[in-house]
Amino acid sequence: MSDNEQMTLEEYTDRVQTDRMRELIDRLNAAAYAYYVEDREIMSNFEYDKLYDELAALERETGVTLPDSPTASAGAGYKAVSKLTKSEHEFPALSLDKTKDRSALPGWLGGQRGVLSWKLDGLTVVLTYQDGKLQKAVTRGNGQVGEDVTHNAVHFGGVPKRIAYGGKLIVRGEAVMRYDDFERVNRELPETEAKYKNPRNLASATVRLLDSREAAGRPVTVCAFDLVYADKDAGITDPNSKNSQFDWLAAQGFTVVDHTLVTPETVVAALEKFEKELPDNAYPTDGLVLILDDEAYGKSLGSTGKFPRNGIAFKWQDETVESRMVRVEWSASRTGLLNPVAVFEPVEIEGTTVSRASVHNVSIARALRLGAGSRVMVYKANLIIPQIAETIESTGETFVPDSCPVCGGPTSVHENDGIETLYCDNADCPAKHVGRFTHFVARDAMNVMGLSEATVEMFIDAGFVRRFADLYKLDRYRAEIVTLEGFGEKSYDNLQAALTASRRVKFSALLNAAGIPGIGKDMAKQISRYLGAGAYGRFLALLAERADFSAVEGVGAVINDNIYAWADDIDRFSEFTELAAELEIIDDVSAAADNAGDNGAPASAIAGKTFVITGGLNGFDNRDQLVAYIEERGGSVSGSVSAKTDYLINNDVNSGSGKNKKAKALGVPIISETDFMKMSGAGN
Ligand SMILES: [Zn+2]
Repeated sequence: MSDNEQMTLEEYTDRVQTDRMRELIDRLNAAAYAYYVEDREIMSNFEYDKLYDELAALERETGVTLPDSPTASAGAGYKAVSKLTKSEHEFPALSLDKTKDRSALPGWLGGQRGVLSWKLDGLTVVLTYQDGKLQKAVTRGNGQVGEDVTHNAVHFGGVPKRIAYGGKLIVRGEAVMRYDDFERVNRELPETEAKYKNPRNLASATVRLLDSREAAGRPVTVCAFDLVYADKDAGITDPNSKNSQFDWLAAQGFTVVDHTLVTPETVVAALEKFEKELPDNAYPTDGLVLILDDEAYGKSLGSTGKFPRNGIAFKWQDETVESRMVRVEWSASRTGLLNPVAVFEPVEIEGTTVSRASVHNVSIARALRLGAGSRVMVYKANLIIPQIAETIESTGETFVPDSCPVCGGPTSVHENDGIETLYCDNADCPAKHVGRFTHFVARDAMNVMGLSEATVEMFIDAGFVRRFADLYKLDRYRAEIVTLEGFGEKSYDNLQAALTASRRVKFSALLNAAGIPGIGKDMAKQISRYLGAGAYGRFLALLAERADFSAVEGVGAVINDNIYAWADDIDRFSEFTELAAELEIIDDVSAAADNAGDNGAPASAIAGKTFVITGGLNGFDNRDQLVAYIEERGGSVSGSVSAKTDYLINNDVNSGSGKNKKAKALGVPIISETDFMKMSGAGN
């Protein structure tokens, strides 16, 4: 510090500020690179925003913007990497300026109409069509250059392979995954693979997979949010209106992001309507986007250098509330992974009481220094998921246990990509068994009604249950079970009734229950469909011949390897065949017919009818699955609404989409997925 003596105070202050700016830039760019390019999060959004604001303030104060500053470039200074081919964008993508102040929006519109829509939280993909066909799909990348992911995009929902319009068309969309799909895919990932932290990471990783077969097995939907370019003769009702462009895109078969036309008078009420839907939203969102409806006017405003002036992003203000740490719990999963959960004194945030927040992994838990009694700030990310924003006063390090809280066995910290996670090393850890059984009895698997995780745990602890088939032999322990705490004769009889009912099982549900890494409900159905009649016997025969299951649509080499690793593990495989001996295994096809009968409605209600499907789906995983369901029952599906259409299936009956308008004009009934399922007579 000796050279400081030669400096004036002003020079010294400048130097301290410059050093701080340099440090902030490095940290922000490292976080952005990890987030966008490597699909991992080394810093919370909250922390990122805080550091970003600090940097922007320093730049304003000093009048200096250093090279590489994320405030000076759209997106941070990252480049597309991996083995995907790089592709330059014809129309560079800029990111939008943002605000958390809803009262600023009417003024921002400045007397203009705007289109308000979700800001979906996924990976932006730019689709180019020519001659009615998808020509290429490129990720946003840094806005200038992205990666060619055409091979995967053709398999995603919301990406029509052919469109009626034959000219050149460029559309931006967000590749997203529903929360429920995210949880399922994550659950079904091979146990050797790291789990994804949120739907955005998983959608992003899926879009960038090298093997499109793997990508096709994961339900990603691309929601169009911007028509970037179309020839003048495209046939858009009002080509200069962003809202009209959305209608036209929907009519071409794109899945268009939920949006609504607003004026300065209605924008805040519209925003509040979105806000109400937020907790039930199937897709993760990052706020809202407001763009000027008048495209030519919007373009005439130009940009600020970094941000275009025709649009603005709105982010919900995260309400942070102070609380005090009680402890960190380590919750065990069936893979043996121990997840840190911060338990703090109950506080009310956004109308609900919150006392727990996932801390994701050991690295984050350590960085937060969550010693008991530490003062922490808690918030709900996007008004939904409780998170620890920061520790404002730490009493000490986060305690990372060296023994498993479930079995007391040794734990170990695994490091992957700089992120540390904690595992229980005991192969016989009951947590692993409990997890296995919890999956086994679930609705999509053996569907043993009313058998809770707590009961399973109790049976395992008591030694009644070690292997799957043991559940069907519980009568050996009847006398002991009825004396267990909270478990009388009545509960025992109910459990036996549920177990008896579960003995009749579809092959796909049994295969899902087996817990083969990577094989969940949907993959099991695919395999079952492939096996056809007598699926169980056929499955054993194919295993004996060492047949290649990657011949099944949606099953890759990895899953095939998993199947044989499982079949060659004598313990696991004999457990499966022992179990099968207790069951009545039925083919999926016949089971579907039974289902319809159960509910009384004839399965033929669909036969001979023509359906058109538009918008997002809730019950079915994707549109292809619904199409298959209709076709299996003798109905047909058409791409556009005409006088021959019997029903338009659309969960948003009031949507302003072209298909909805046309259906209304032609008097075609618009039914929701629920109406459709009632009509088809299926219970689920
Ligand atoms: Zn353990």
